[in-house]
Amino acid sequence: MEFITEYDLEGLRKRFVELGFEPYRANQVLSWLYKRFETDFEKMTDLSKVHRALLKNTFKVHSLELVQKVQASDSVKYLFKTHDGHLVESVLIFERDHLTLCLSSQVGCAVGCLFCATAKDGLIRNLSTSEIIDQYLQVQRDLSQRIRNVVFMGMGEPLANYEAVRRAVYILASPWGIDLSKRRVSISTSGLIAQIERMAKDPLMKEVNLAVSINAPSQYLRQYLMPISKTNSLEELISVLAKYPYPEDRRIMLEYVVIKGVNDSDRQAHELAKLILPYRRKFKVNLIPYNPDPSLPFERPELERVYEFQKVLRSHNISVFVRISKGIEVFGACGQLRSKRLAVLK
Ligand code: SAH
Ligand code: SF4
Repeated sequence: MEFITEYDLEGLRKRFVELGFEPYRANQVLSWLYKRFETDFEKMTDLSKVHRALLKNTFKVHSLELVQKVQASDSVKYLFKTHDGHLVESVLIFERDHLTLCLSSQVGCAVGCLFCATAKDGLIRNLSTSEIIDQYLQVQRDLSQRIRNVVFMGMGEPLANYEAVRRAVYILASPWGIDLSKRRVSISTSGLIAQIERMAKDPLMKEVNLAVSINAPSQYLRQYLMPISKTNSLEELISVLAKYPYPEDRRIMLEYVVIKGVNDSDRQAHELAKLILPYRRKFKVNLIPYNPDPSLPFERPELERVYEFQKVLRSHNISVFVRISKGIEVFGACGQLRSKRLAVLK
C-alpha cells in the first residue's frame, strides 16, 4: 500500500497515468485532500465509483494513528503512533490571533543536546514526508479554524532529514497543496552547517523562515551543551548565517534557551552580543526560558534574570524577544517531547 500524502502534484499525476487515470484527476484528489481536508476517497464525489474504488485499493491517506489528545489552556498535544509502533507528537499552539502547529520531523534525535528530552532517546528513525503531512492533516481535520503557521520545532532535527522535510514543505507551501505562505513555515535547526548551506542554495527552502538554536555564546559552552557543535563550530556557523541569502528586511531567528547558572549571566549576554554584533541586522534573538523536565538536570532561571539578559542584548541594539513556551502543563513545550515517556504514559 502506498501513501497518497507522500506525493507532490507532479509525482501524483505521473502515478495516476500509470494507473490509467487522466492526470488532471490528481489535481482533483489533492484538492479534496488539501483544500477540503476530505480524507475518505468514497466522499470524493466528482470521481466515478470505479475511480474511487481503485484509489481505495491503491492508496492510504493516513500514515499515523492518533492515540491521544491532551488539552491544555494554551495548547493541545496530539500523540500519534507510526505503523512500526513509535510515538511522535505535534503541538497545536493558540496564539493571540492565530494557530501554530509544531511538527516533528524524526522519532528521537541524534544531536544529543544536554537540555533536551528528545535527545534522551537517541535517533530512532526519520519520519517520512507522509508522516509529516499527516500530522498537519489530522490536526487540521480536528479543527474548524485553519492552521496557517507551521514550525518544525517538535521532535527531531529537521535538517538531518532534509529530503523528507523538503518534500513536506513543498506540499505545505504549494498552491495545489496546503497552500501556506512560505513566510509562515519555519524550520528550526541545531546548526548543521552543510545542511544550512544546502538550504541557502535551494529555491524552495531558502524562502522559509530559518531559526537556529544557538544556546551558548562561546564554542566552549556550546560544544558542552550541544555535542554536534564539536564538528559544526560556532564561529563557522555565524559566518555561514551572515552570508545567508535573505533580503535586507528578513531576519534569521537565533534561539537561545536560557538555563539557570549555565548560560544566563550578564557576562554571557555581552559575549553573545559581541559574537553577533557585526551582523546584528541579520538576526533576531529569541530567549526561551528553559523548560524543566524530570529527566534533565537543569533549572529555569527567574524571569527577571531572563529580562536582565535581554536588557544587555538590547543595550547593544540587538533585536531580542523573550518567548515563554506554551504547552508546559502537557509536557508539550520545547525540549519536553519524548517518545519513551509517552510510551509510559499510555
Ligand atoms: N532540533 C531542532 C528543532 C527542535 S528543538 C533544534 O534544535 O532547533 C526546538 C527548540 O527547542 C530549539 O530551539 C531548542 O533549543 C529548544 N529546546 C530544547 N530543549 C529545551 C528545553 N528544555 N527548554 C526550552 N527549549 C528547549
Ligand atoms: Fe535534537 Fe533539537 Fe533536542 Fe537538540 S534541541 S536534541 S537538536 S531536538
